[in-house]
Amino acid sequence: MQRCSAGSCHHPSMPRPALTAPRCRCHNQMPGGRPRPPLRHTAAAPHARMWPRLGKLEEITHLMVGSLKQCGSLLYYYLGTRLGRKKPILGGMKLTRQCNLRCRHCPFWREPAPSLSFSRAVSCMEALRAWGVRILILEGGEPFLWKDGDADLQAVVGEARKLFSCVGVTTNGTFPIEIDADVVWVSIDGLQETHDAIRGQSFATAMANIAASSHPDIYAHITINSLNYKEIPELVESLSDRVKGITIQFHYPYPGVEESLLLPLARRRAVLDRLIELKKAGLPVADSCACLEALKDNRWKCHPWMIASVESDGKLTRGCYVEGRGEISCERCGFAAHAELSLAYSGVLEAIRTGNRIFTRPERASSHA
Ligand code: SF4
Repeated sequence: MQRCSAGSCHHPSMPRPALTAPRCRCHNQMPGGRPRPPLRHTAAAPHARMWPRLGKLEEITHLMVGSLKQCGSLLYYYLGTRLGRKKPILGGMKLTRQCNLRCRHCPFWREPAPSLSFSRAVSCMEALRAWGVRILILEGGEPFLWKDGDADLQAVVGEARKLFSCVGVTTNGTFPIEIDADVVWVSIDGLQETHDAIRGQSFATAMANIAASSHPDIYAHITINSLNYKEIPELVESLSDRVKGITIQFHYPYPGVEESLLLPLARRRAVLDRLIELKKAGLPVADSCACLEALKDNRWKCHPWMIASVESDGKLTRGCYVEGRGEISCERCGFAAHAELSLAYSGVLEAIRTGNRIFTRPERASSHA
């Protein structure tokens, strides 16, 4: 196995598709070895630059305090739900169904609907917060396409950050990834040829935008289907030093989308076994092994009340992501995020740690807990 050219990198790096220049997040370099601009969320204080050990100690203390506060907040949430206050904790908001791509597995661009206005987006976020939501994911369609007058995605993120502990954005990666969200997921659904066959020509642009972005928390998100399942291990290896982590889900058979994209369970199990091996070998698969195991036969106890959604027409729903978007078929579910959340609620420590790792922002936890 090759190693990162910077020498001490912990992510093994493998031969990669030719189109994208290599980029090493852990050594903070841009393509061609240029230093990356300072990261917004982690800029070191002057004393930390003078005394690096003090800076490290401060960082660890900061993390511990933030994590303790987050744990306290989670414990409060957990006890509340046990007392009958079942509140959603994760919200997804579709700003728009408009998209510049036509992905084969996606039902949303197929049914045009009005996009949210800025004022409606803010009132929906306030409603989600009142329901109990603490983590908000802004999605589409393509959320970077969304605009209302002068307001753009950054304006929505700015409002969201006043209300939620963590704000994420999902994108197809075809726009520059300069956004002040806490986490960004870029959909990458195969090596170049397969990705482009599923999503339309966009692989090269998405990889270039990931490489050029100064955002410190970019995850690649893979939707696994019958077209790409064979190359998932190679894809994970090629992405491993380009993003902070990799999350997955399996294709869900929405109405109006090709049935044949659904991966039969036997093949799904084989992919999950390989993903677990890769994670154990140190590759940055972010989903917990417990979650990957649970997806093999879909027998985890789902708690769909932990989820809330906003449609692009402003309709709010509680429950499964499929609610109002298709027939809910738990046997065919492949939503790893829901599985992870439900496992965390059921007390699976690895799932709790995974959620903390992705969503905890210690420096912000105090104001939103
Ligand atoms: S489809 Fe999946 S996320 Fe939805 S209720 Fe069933 S198991 Fe839960």
